[in-house]
Order: sequence, then structure tokens, then C-alpha cells
Amino acid sequence: MALSTLSRDLIPGWAKIDLQLHQPFRGWFGFRRLRCDWCGERWGRHSCPMRESAARQFVYTASSAQQEAALVSGDITEADLQLRRSQPTGHRRKPSPHPRHSRRSASFTALPLEWSHV
Ligand SMILES: [Zn+2]
Repeated sequence: MALSTLSRDLIPGWAKIDLQLHQPFRGWFGFRRLRCDWCGERWGRHSCPMRESAARQFVYTASSAQQEAALVSGDITEADLQLRRSQPTGHRRKPSPHPRHSRRSASFTALPLEWSHV
């Protein structure tokens, strides 16, 4: 609740977990047809959609030291680091509606804090 509890580790837990879970599945059915071992999605240039969003979140929030450590351990790749740069261009815009937008009742809980203080 408190805003002062900003730790140095800003990476959300789900992003770390997704990066670990979603790995390419190298099956016996050919080299080019990689799939995600966890969710079964097609493994593209930036992995599966779930891992891509996790990697993007990671790149945004991780410190440079954390990114370096993740690179060494293989949790993220060089291609994942490119995600940060490729986003602001807005070239590939998908018309995907975000259900979270309509559920913005979170601002309600933040209000009373200041009021009770005065
Ligand atoms: Zn996946």
C-alpha cells in the first residue's frame, strides 16, 4: 500500500516466472517448427507471446546489472533487449482491446490516504 516501499527490484514476479516457464520446445518434428514448451504457442522471433510480454516487462524494469545477469544465465536473449527499442515506434499496432482499461477502480483506494492525513 505505502508508496515508500520501493525496493530496488522492480521486476514483477510474474515476469520472472514467465521467463523461466516459457522455453522453446525442440521436438523431433523438425528444426524450424519450434513451439513453447509451456503454453504451446508458436515460437517466433521473440519467443511466444507470453514470454515476449514478460521479457519486455523485464527489460523495462530490470537494472542493467540484472539484465546482464539474466543474459548470462540465458533467461533473456539479445533479441529480448531489442524489445525495448522497437516498442515506441508504434509500427506494429494490434487492435487488441485491453480488458484492464475498463477496470480502473484502483484509483479509489489511493484517494483516502491523503484525506485522512489532513
Ligand atoms: Zn509460452
